[in-house]
This record gives sequence, structure tokens and C-alpha cells, in this order.
Amino acid sequence: MRPGLLLTISATVLVFAGMTATADSPIAIAIHGGAGTISRSTVTAEQEQAIREKLLQAVTTAYEVLQNDGDSMDAVISAVKILEDSPHFNAGKGSVFTWDGKNEMDAALMDGASLDAGAISGVTNVANPIALARLVMLNSRHVFLSGDGAVEFAIEQGMEKVPDEYFFTERRWKQLQDLKDSPELAAAEPQFQIGTVGAVALDRKGNLVAGTSTGGTTGKRYGRIGDSPIIGSGTYANNRSVAVSATGTGEFFIRGTVAHDISALVEYKGMTVDDAAREVIFEKLAALKGDGGVIALDRHGNISMPFNTEGMYRASIDSSGKVTISLYDEKAEAE
Ligand code: ASP
Repeated sequence: MRPGLLLTISATVLVFAGMTATADSPIAIAIHGGAGTISRSTVTAEQEQAIREKLLQAVTTAYEVLQNDGDSMDAVISAVKILEDSPHFNAGKGSVFTWDGKNEMDAALMDGASLDAGAISGVTNVANPIALARLVMLNSRHVFLSGDGAVEFAIEQGMEKVPDEYFFTERRWKQLQDLKDSPELAAAEPQFQIGTVGAVALDRKGNLVAGTSTGGTTGKRYGRIGDSPIIGSGTYANNRSVAVSATGTGEFFIRGTVAHDISALVEYKGMTVDDAAREVIFEKLAALKGDGGVIALDRHGNISMPFNTEGMYRASIDSSGKVTISLYDEKAEAE
């Protein structure tokens, strides 16, 4: 942490002190750690503190990249990697289990300046799927690699294969057993998948980037692909409009092409990022009976983080340096 940053972990809203803008574009970052049924009754005080600390670490690390004139791609990757390395989130290390007891991960990254993108799905034994998505974008002539082909590419690119045990967490294993004991919970209890992670960033050059990484949904069928790695559904960035990363039940986000829909409303209809994101989450996604939320950021640094679930783990540092960390909805947060 750089000196001069005012940080109090127990507070929800903090302010970065001593900031000086040195270039044309404002800088901003928003991250999420998943949406779902999160109420104070389902998260212990210790878990809540650990989640807040990780969100703060991820958002401040990414913001420092931007402050040091780094690009939004590096900022997004740095935030997502921190969340992937934590057992508290459903991505990387803390990924949920498939019905067969495996960890199959999806991730995507998109650059709003060039519209370049990289995505991977159904990947095993890769600690940081977001880093693999970047390698697909930079070092292959493809956008999207899946399964064994993606893992082989990771090894070719020098990424280390980690053992299955790396991804074992007692909590996620128990969730799978609970689900097997009572499969109807899968539809009724979205907390079985909570924890997908994502980030959107705006750098001093005015470039937007979005990235998302997930273990998917607990008990998912072998080979199931969610919205997170699908460009335009769970992840999208375009300098002409917005950067978006989504979280929620992927099947609905795929059918609603949620991330691109928000971008289209901003680009073609001239809506603000907040109006566009709210319309898609509260009107269009709700009409499909889909649950979840998004983080969205425009090229002026405006941030919107709507969700239609009980909570969404989220954090941001806006263009004025204001830091926000929230887990529940605004009303529950204020209590
Ligand atoms: N959207 C993710 C998926 O369906 C899960 C989540 O965001 O919780 O794979």
C-alpha cells in the first residue's frame, strides 16, 4: 500500500488522499465477487471481514496500477488474480465443484480500445484462468479456447499446471454434497454459486477493459459453459460505450446478451451507464426471471453496479478517489 492512502478497513466508504490527476482521462476501477443470496444470516462476521479485506486489496492494487499510469488491462488482471487466489470467491482457488466433483473454470477478458478479446472455458488445473484468457488474446489467432485444448495451450505458453487438490475447499465440497442431497436447492438457492469475480477499469489513456473469471455453478453438468467467458454476455468492453462484467445465473445472461445490451443502450441510445445497466438488470433480465448483477464503467469514469439479488460483493474506486466496498443491498448495508 502506498503511503498517503487513507484506509480504514472497518469502514464501508473511504477516500484516497493526496491524489493528483496528471493526464486527460479520469481513472476508475470497479470489481465484483459475485451476486446471489447473501444476507447477514448466511455469512459469518469472520467471513464478511475476510471478503471485505480481499475486495479492498484487489481494488486498491488495481487502482495503484492505474495511478502509476499502468493500463486498464494490467489493472483488471491484477484485481482478478487476487480474487482468484483467494478461497473466498468462486474463481481460481475457490471454484465450485461440478456434479462429478471436478473444477472447470471459465474466464474472459476484453480490450475496449481494439475490441480484442480472449476467453477460455472448461479449464482444469490452471490457477489463474484470467491470465490464460489474456494469453489466448495475445498469443493465439483465436478468441476462445475450451477444455483440454485450452489447458494444452496454457502449458505451451509456460503456465504451470497445479494439482486438483489446489482447488479443494471444504466449503465448496460441502455445497456440492448439500446440493446432491437436495437437488431442488439448485434452482431455489443462488448462493450455491456465489463468488464469480470480475473487474472493469478505465486508464489515463481513456481505455476501458473488462474481465471475468468463474468456477461456474455448483453441481453443473460436465461441459457446461456459463456467461462469464462469452463475449457480450458476461464480459464486454468498448471504448465507445462501457466495460461490463456480470455475475448471476449464466443461462439467463447468455440469453439476454446482457453485457453487450448495456453497451448498445449507451452507444446507440445515448443512455447513461447507470440507466442502461439498471434497465437491463431490473427490466430485461428480470423479465427472463434471471438473477444477478453487473459492474459497468463508462469512459468518463461513471460506475454502475446494479443487482437484483439480495447482495453482490462489490468494490470500486471512482474518478474522485472515493473507495466503496459493499456486500449487501444499500438498505441492508446502512443498517
Ligand atoms: N455467471 C456465472 C455462471 O453462470 C456464475 C456466477 O456469476 O455466479 O457461470
